[in-house]
Amino acid sequence: MKKIQMVDLKGQYENIKERVDSSIMNVIETTAFINGPEVQEFQKELENYLNVKHVIPCANGTDALQIAMMGLGLQPGDEVITADFTFAATVEVIALLQLTPVLVDVDPVNFNIDIEAIKKAITPKTRAIVPVHLFGLAANMDEIMAIAEEHNLYVIEDNAQAIGANYVSKDGTKHKAGTIGHVASTSFFPSKNLGCYGDGGAIFTNDDDLAHIIRGIVNHGMYVRYHHDVVGVNSRLDSIQAAVLRAKLPHLDEYNAARIEAANKYTAAFENIENIVTPGGFDAENNLSERSHVFHQYTIKILNADRDALVNHLNEKGIPCGVYYPIPLHLQKAYRDERYKEEDFTVTNQLVKEVVSLPMHTELDNEQIKYITDTVINFVSK
Ligand SMILES: *Cc1c(COP(=O)(O)O)cnc(C)c1O
Repeated sequence: MKKIQMVDLKGQYENIKERVDSSIMNVIETTAFINGPEVQEFQKELENYLNVKHVIPCANGTDALQIAMMGLGLQPGDEVITADFTFAATVEVIALLQLTPVLVDVDPVNFNIDIEAIKKAITPKTRAIVPVHLFGLAANMDEIMAIAEEHNLYVIEDNAQAIGANYVSKDGTKHKAGTIGHVASTSFFPSKNLGCYGDGGAIFTNDDDLAHIIRGIVNHGMYVRYHHDVVGVNSRLDSIQAAVLRAKLPHLDEYNAARIEAANKYTAAFENIENIVTPGGFDAENNLSERSHVFHQYTIKILNADRDALVNHLNEKGIPCGVYYPIPLHLQKAYRDERYKEEDFTVTNQLVKEVVSLPMHTELDNEQIKYITDTVINFVSK
């Protein structure tokens, strides 16, 4: 059996090596390292793929979130509601901009921001909601957009984990995740579903005025060369990374389909096993055509067993795995606040003890999946 990896970037590279190598060499030959044609072309190709009016590439997914919030003109003291169960980048940029993070609980089935918890958290100071499409499944955007409209709030989608996922609204319209809110961010960190070979990110929006503002912010607040109209940042996607992304974008649907196939095999093996809860909140039969889960992570819940002992056991058996996330954000030292009450976080407080994410990438084979699922099942059935 091939050695099991949490993420297999090498196997994926080998299949697109010729295109990647020649594109990278071409950037070097032409020395258009910053904002070269590869960046411009990638931007257009991603706009077409997502069916969104504007893609603004930037340096990473964390910058993308920060710049989106700057572009919306959020001011210190404005409250921004986001999920307690996510990667820290989301709350980090809120705090960094001196906005007030308002962390709320998540849904126990799909792990995304809880709709009732959002409603409860709204105050006269609330200005925005940041749903995170966690592990590859879009949050309930119909409900979130309705709440936002009612209370006149912005919606910033953190789409770092769900690029390529579909979302079908109640009215039947089909969208790509990250094109429904007022603005969205994504990350091209190597292990993401569309990853480059270093850092990268992008902001998406259908709003022409906002896109214009953001294009200036990413470039030192310049709209006319050496005229700095607003305080900006320096955040660029470099041309070598754009060249890698252009080679991979045409394969994104195929990559996501391979993830879904691996996920379906995991789920089939775990289906009737007591104490294992497989990912929910989407229609597995219609995945990719309806509200799809593109499995940035395949995360199960382990009930009535020692999750940490399972993690150790898997590692001993040569199976890498991850606990995303081991600590709720409201309990992290940097983000603790006396406003938070433990009884408002019953779901995240429980999830951090139960979740484990299994190896997930485009190159998993049947033998590996069988070995992984057998090892997990044997452990929980002991
Ligand atoms: C990866 C990730 C980010 C940050 O992306 P970087 O490119 O690493 O800065 C933000 N939010 C979520 C949910 C992520 O998974």
